[in-house]
Amino acid sequence: MRFRYVCTECETTYEISPRILVCPACSKKQQADKPLRGILEVASEEAPQASEEAAQTDAASDIYDYLPVDRRFFPPIPVGNTPLWEPFNLRKKTGFANLYIKDDTFNPTGSLKDRASYLVAAFAQQHGIRRIVVASTGNAASSMAGVGAAAGLEVTIFIPQSAPPAKLVQALQYGAEVILVKGNYDKAYDLSLEYSASRRDSNEGYVLSRNTGYNPLTIEGKKTVSFEICAQLRDPVDFLFVPTGDGVILSGVYKGFRDLKSLGTIDRVPTIFAVQAEGSRALYTAFQSGDFTETPVPSATIADSIAVDVPRAGYYALRQLQSHDGRCVTVSDADITEAQRLLSSTTGLFAEPAAAAALAGFLAVKDQLPADARVVLLITGSGLKDIESARKGVKMPCS
Ligand SMILES: *Cc1c(COP(=O)(O)O)cnc(C)c1O
Repeated sequence: MRFRYVCTECETTYEISPRILVCPACSKKQQADKPLRGILEVASEEAPQASEEAAQTDAASDIYDYLPVDRRFFPPIPVGNTPLWEPFNLRKKTGFANLYIKDDTFNPTGSLKDRASYLVAAFAQQHGIRRIVVASTGNAASSMAGVGAAAGLEVTIFIPQSAPPAKLVQALQYGAEVILVKGNYDKAYDLSLEYSASRRDSNEGYVLSRNTGYNPLTIEGKKTVSFEICAQLRDPVDFLFVPTGDGVILSGVYKGFRDLKSLGTIDRVPTIFAVQAEGSRALYTAFQSGDFTETPVPSATIADSIAVDVPRAGYYALRQLQSHDGRCVTVSDADITEAQRLLSSTTGLFAEPAAAAALAGFLAVKDQLPADARVVLLITGSGLKDIESARKGVKMPCS
């Protein structure tokens, strides 16, 4: 299958190339303190058709047919194909007999971010690119560092000083060049873009930005989780809970379900709940009012992976929520800490705060949902990545 980029705003199409990340025309309209303009989406040039083979086996095994990089370029590290499982005790506790967990802590670096890093690394291999740069609150950095190591790529990361130490140590273990930023994620983001722009035409070679939302492949890579859920569950998903900061996972999840719908694999896109922290709820606010009109509020939440002032994929994510009858819900840090411990103690799955927010969001709205609904919680990252936050939910024994 052949693919192109399509601008999600003006619908201009572009040939897929490392030299183009956002739509040149629409990105000129970028305003400070607003989500990214001119995000590109991958689209196939032919009308999508499920291959006969794919229809007979499951969609996930043929996912490479629906990705814009040939399978031979992917590094030899087992990303994706994570388990979808049935948490019996949590089912009993919540009264939802068809509750499922999609456990993306199983990815090699412990978070869903590997799905994006995997596609970006393969793309770099295909185009002979040697270095990748990324700004991150932690997981995208450790993910790109790990998957990049498997591919033999050089990785530079810009990470705020406040990032959980485990994520930083992880990135260093994988051999990444780490630049600690005095300031927040947004500052790190700007610095990383300056870094890649300054090397655009240098002799050192082209540096590819993996910044989330900015590189279209970060959205495309994350769609694989929807393909897997459909193949694993077979019956249609009714409700899916997705922890949301920049809105790139949310957008990728939607992209996956839209692809599956146009392939004829599913009849409808599930109802998706974007779960945000009360202290980082820009998308929620925009969803309520219909647009990003408010001045950004500095984020403050225990869930560092969903702490953003300005959601990068904000416009795009908002449009998907609006056009697929999605929902948005916020949860407090106390709710998140409680959900984290509930998840650990009833299922054996220790998730980081951002990931536990999916359960907190479900608990917040479950009384409005039919108890026989098929509900999937997307658990996006491992609890071992942030022990300091998890400590707040438990009582340490005295010595
Ligand atoms: C990045 C991340 C999220 C949020 O994804 P966005 O694309 O920023 O909305 C949620 N959970 C974990 C563990 C993450 O690493």
